[in-house]
Amino acid sequence: MDGEFCVVCGATGRRLTDGVCPECAADRTTLLSVPERAVVVICPHCGARKVGAQWERPGESPLVTAEDLVRFLRVPPEVGVRRVRWEETSAAGTIRELTGTADVVFRGVPRTVEVHLSVRTEHQTCTDCSRKSGRYYTAVLQLRGGLERENEKSRALHARLDGTWTSLLGECRADWRNAISWREELPEGYDVFFTQTLAARAVAKLAKQRFGATVKESATLFGRKDGQDIYRVTLCLRFPRTDPTVRARDAARPAVEP
Ligand SMILES: [Zn+2]
Ligand SMILES: [Zn+2]
Repeated sequence: MDGEFCVVCGATGRRLTDGVCPECAADRTTLLSVPERAVVVICPHCGARKVGAQWERPGESPLVTAEDLVRFLRVPPEVGVRRVRWEETSAAGTIRELTGTADVVFRGVPRTVEVHLSVRTEHQTCTDCSRKSGRYYTAVLQLRGGLERENEKSRALHARLDGTWTSLLGECRADWRNAISWREELPEGYDVFFTQTLAARAVAKLAKQRFGATVKESATLFGRKDGQDIYRVTLCLRFPRTDPTVRARDAARPAVEP
């Protein structure tokens, strides 16, 4: 290395690649670029993004975010992107013009680079939301009262189940909640319809662990697809009353099967 110098600037004592120092190489390299136009496809109902053929990240903001933009960055090898700040320079209809200021590092040399991107937002209903709007479901969760001897008044039962359901939802994973299609009120409780059977089972399991519910699962055949039987699953969840006086009274009585 001693005595070698950069063929561009003549500097010595720098690590050279093909005779060029990192600073000069950085000057001659496009450190970051973006396509001229970009499209972000967003489901207006749940905020999911369409990336390739897949829908991801339901529950996101309905507006274009930095996370949407980062995937349009073309990062050459040897360049590390530390951070990007986006600023909107203009917006018209569904098209926004943005300037990104990126801190990058190339062969140990830090640089700040600007890119300009024109982003169009396109709204499409995602697969989950279109299933929901078609009242498609694969599993139903029946929320019911316990089998205590004393009947609970309908209004009290609904208020109790509604409260329990709200707490239960608060502990559910986002993808389980997202599998919920709609809920119906019935005299004996609520029916909650799911587009994903695994999510319904997971919620039932949580109800059992955290809220002392009993769970009974049954399946009904509802069609055939690709030569396979399709079943809809019913999960009956009974939530016993936790009022200690009711429990004490029930405990004092001999158990009665429903
Ligand atoms: Zn140089
Ligand atoms: Zn959606």
